[in-house]
Amino acid sequence: MILTVTMNPSIDTAYHLEKLAVDDVNRVEPVKTAGGKGLNVTRVLGQLGDDVVATGLLGGHMGEFLADLMDADGVTHDFAPITGESRICIAVLHEGCQTEFLESGPVVSEKELEAFTEKFRALAAKADVVTMSGSLPRGVDAGCYARLTEIAGELGAKVLLDTSGASLDAALVGTVKPYLVKPNLSELSALLGRELSSDDVLGIRDAIESDGRFDGVAWVIVSMGAAGSAAFHDGEIFRAVPPRIDCVNATGSGDSTVAGFAHAIAAEAEPAEVLRCGNACGTLNAMDPKTGHLPMERWDEVFGSVQVSKL
Ligand code: ADP
Repeated sequence: MILTVTMNPSIDTAYHLEKLAVDDVNRVEPVKTAGGKGLNVTRVLGQLGDDVVATGLLGGHMGEFLADLMDADGVTHDFAPITGESRICIAVLHEGCQTEFLESGPVVSEKELEAFTEKFRALAAKADVVTMSGSLPRGVDAGCYARLTEIAGELGAKVLLDTSGASLDAALVGTVKPYLVKPNLSELSALLGRELSSDDVLGIRDAIESDGRFDGVAWVIVSMGAAGSAAFHDGEIFRAVPPRIDCVNATGSGDSTVAGFAHAIAAEAEPAEVLRCGNACGTLNAMDPKTGHLPMERWDEVFGSVQVSKL
């Protein structure tokens, strides 16, 4: 089983407008989705046919509605309840622009976090792979993913962590390291405090190798949008280059790559296959208007066109 963690899910609400009328009335038809990076990972894993369970925190009436949306998507979920209301995030798509309104979300109490941690422990005990994605809600300290990584790692699960900033840093200096981290180029540059370029993979390798925080992390995969990704695994450097595509909506491509990596790692695939699978998922997501959704009818074509090489 693959367990996905979404600590700050949201009711993602999209309004499509031909023109946004500011300081006037806009009549809209909402499209509502159970959102959050971990839920994108979950839906893609569902498309890939994996046995996947989503967990995290669900708050109040909004949380109940999120559970209904997950049910409607056929997602198996087991979230811990909290008192604060889960957030709503609104994206207004108008005149080729995307104007977003993101609620900060509920504040989580120490007791609620403890109850979640116990649920997580029980679920992680049944998981081969655990993915953890996204930011943490208010009231949850930056060490949360580090503690969850320790619990899951000690239970024998492989932890794939897709976060940034202080929570990534805390997990990288924790006692049990994540099995895989997937920063994008700007997240890695911010973490290392230096500008990195997709044209200089050896420079990225040197920066990672000279930083002790990455010691013991089996896979460091740096995603680079349309340029694909560079991966560092077992002392080897891999480069994955996706086919050129008409990009429709790349939101959620990072989450889709994490799903692809989790799928292949759970299946104990060879390193090159892990990379091919993750990049194919990221690219397919970018070809579809929906976030965290792959046009599976194009799987063979895209999967077969991802170029993976060892440097
Ligand atoms: P994030 O969403 O975390 O910033 P990226 O934008 O780096 O992640 O995208 C993740 C992966 O999705 C890339 O490594 C690549 O395989 C694929 N991808 C993203 N954008 C494109 C694109 N325009 N064309 C082809 N593949 C893409």
